[in-house]
Amino acid sequence: MRNKELLLIPGPTPVADSIYDAMVQETWGHTDLRFAKMYKESIEATKQMLKTDGEVFVISGSGTLAMEMALVNTVASGEKLLVISHGYFGDRFIKLGQAYGIEIDVVQSEWGKHIDVTEVDKKLSENKYKAVTITHADTSTGVASNLDLLVPLIKKHGALVILDGVCATGAIEEDMSKTYGSPDAKIDVVLTGSQKAIGVPPGLAIVAFNQTALAAREELDRVPAYYCDIKNWLPIMHDPTKYFATPAVNMIYGYREGMRLVLEEGMEKRYIRHKQYGQAVRSSLREYGMKPLADEGVAAATLSCILYPDGVDDAEFRSSLAKKGVIVAGALAHLSGKAFRIGHMGNTTKEMLAEAIERIGETLIELGLAANIDRALEQFEESFNVTIN
Ligand SMILES: *Cc1c(COP(=O)(O)O)cnc(C)c1O
Repeated sequence: MRNKELLLIPGPTPVADSIYDAMVQETWGHTDLRFAKMYKESIEATKQMLKTDGEVFVISGSGTLAMEMALVNTVASGEKLLVISHGYFGDRFIKLGQAYGIEIDVVQSEWGKHIDVTEVDKKLSENKYKAVTITHADTSTGVASNLDLLVPLIKKHGALVILDGVCATGAIEEDMSKTYGSPDAKIDVVLTGSQKAIGVPPGLAIVAFNQTALAAREELDRVPAYYCDIKNWLPIMHDPTKYFATPAVNMIYGYREGMRLVLEEGMEKRYIRHKQYGQAVRSSLREYGMKPLADEGVAAATLSCILYPDGVDDAEFRSSLAKKGVIVAGALAHLSGKAFRIGHMGNTTKEMLAEAIERIGETLIELGLAANIDRALEQFEESFNVTIN
């Protein structure tokens, strides 16, 4: 890859050369037939990735816009939304919903732990919610939600399941055709951004609505939004020679290539690859005395939040590591200064991660701590032999 640095933050993530190449093609008109064909292919590829028989929207914006599109097109002002939050990004739905006058209830977990499902059950039994949001992988904590438990529970109570896949889509299973227990227990809305597990630069908001979610949009009639009203975008998603608002032409070039790479690899392979990455990164960092915030049973395949051993200064650690070409992110909120976050998703390779483990060891030694780099790298390799189911 042409990238000079290992960008191992939880998004943006390393961009493959072929994606860069696609993006520097000449900018065509946004309703040009040649561009319309590419845009359409990108939309179809997204549908294939998520196995949806509904509609997919790919528009300029970031993951947060995708969150907003998901909410504003399904839940009206005055209706109730239950937010299931495993951290900072789960909590983001609270303010977002409040901005639209939606009534919010929240079930929050302790950071690094799963939420208490009985609490969710209780809330669902006591209230009538229009929808429930789940953050698939909370990027602040590295915790992945348990969809097998949550989706059937929510659907039993008749609410829509809105899944924030910004740090998961393309890397952790999100199959919109999958039934969780009963025939109609499916994920209704999946939203993501281009720059995380899909591995395209930031710039696109991606949202998929199944037929149930599309029906919910119909029932709302008017929504308090214009740019993110899916009804304004639907004609364009069907026929991109039509105009609503100018799409990010070169971003679509890049996204189309990114999606080609995703489908070429295949979803099952990607899910396994990411699980292996997660295990390998966390088990090798444990060799350095670094503890992941989330236990292995709840940890996300795409990123990890790693607590520093005593005596490591966050800013010093990350800047020394950056000088060696490895970029990791600081932790958020109350964990700021106490942990760092490392992404292991998208176009990231096993070789890149092995290099990062080595550089992290060197950095710790530089900072005066002990680190057995050989042992960590052995552990890294061994993790790839562990069977994944
Ligand atoms: C990054 C992220 C977001 C926000 O996406 P932006 O592209 O920064 O707007 C939302 N949810 C999750 C889980 C994320 O990781």
